[in-house]
Amino acid sequence: MNIKLYSIILKLLHLFSFMDIEQKVEQTLKKIRLKKKEKILVAISGGKDSAVTAYLLKRLGYKIKGIHIDLGLGKYSENCLKSVKELCNKLKIKLYLYSVKKETGKTMSDIFKHKDEKLSNCTLCGVMKKWLLNKKARELKADKIATGHNFNDGLETFLMNLFKGSQNSNLNSVPILKTKNKKFIVRIKPLFFIANGKIENYCKKLNLPVYKKICPYRGETYRVETRDFVKKLSDKEKKNLMKNFLELAEKIKKDEKETRYCEVCGEPSRKNLCKRCELLNSKI
Ligand code: AMP
Ligand code: ZN
Repeated sequence: MNIKLYSIILKLLHLFSFMDIEQKVEQTLKKIRLKKKEKILVAISGGKDSAVTAYLLKRLGYKIKGIHIDLGLGKYSENCLKSVKELCNKLKIKLYLYSVKKETGKTMSDIFKHKDEKLSNCTLCGVMKKWLLNKKARELKADKIATGHNFNDGLETFLMNLFKGSQNSNLNSVPILKTKNKKFIVRIKPLFFIANGKIENYCKKLNLPVYKKICPYRGETYRVETRDFVKKLSDKEKKNLMKNFLELAEKIKKDEKETRYCEVCGEPSRKNLCKRCELLNSKI
């Protein structure tokens, strides 16, 4: 085939695949009934997924602002923050900035040094981020928090929970997460049905400022093993797994118990102490 023709076909294929992303995200937002007047805080990490989430929500006409948590992981956090600031400038959105150090007196790297060996760094970071995002989003009177979790993240979390036998945790990994708790801010995942590779290409094409390095503190080998397992599945198997997962999540949701409030910080919690306070109390 003529090289010029070949490159035109390739460009067209890319274009169609990008249109596919935009349409799929629009469909997801329709399904979760996101309204244009709602105040959405996009949790921006500095990586490709949350950058694309912010870009698409803005492009589709939603009212968004950015929120970033400085985890205090040295140079890595500095580079993430730099990309986040550049992205917010480029998209012309306001950025709210918070730091784990200011909020708890410790950076995440201090917390890692004293952690229980059973807990991975990613688990600890996840607990801190969720706690801060919910609290700050409520104080800022946001209606929703949008994160960049994608199709692969969803599948990996589902399988990890299934392998570990913690079925109820699957509830958190759905395109829209609501609870009856008044202090809980609804979390949405606009990229939930988009595969990782497609987001990567899309982000590259748009030339969005992102920091590409993997966190040097990442110790979640179980997720990495699950990721490798998912890579071996066919597209059909992945789609079937996701379908089954969403059906299962619906069933679990029906038996969900109402959450209470943490005795120490007053944030939503399943037990007397929330995960964040349990962590700070016991180890650090
Ligand atoms: P991760 O758990 O690191 O894979 O991140 C999942 C999602 O959480 C990202 O797509 C972001 O939306 C959000 N997120 C992660 N890290 C941060 C951060 N430091 N500040 C704000 N949002 C974050
Ligand atoms: Zn608490």
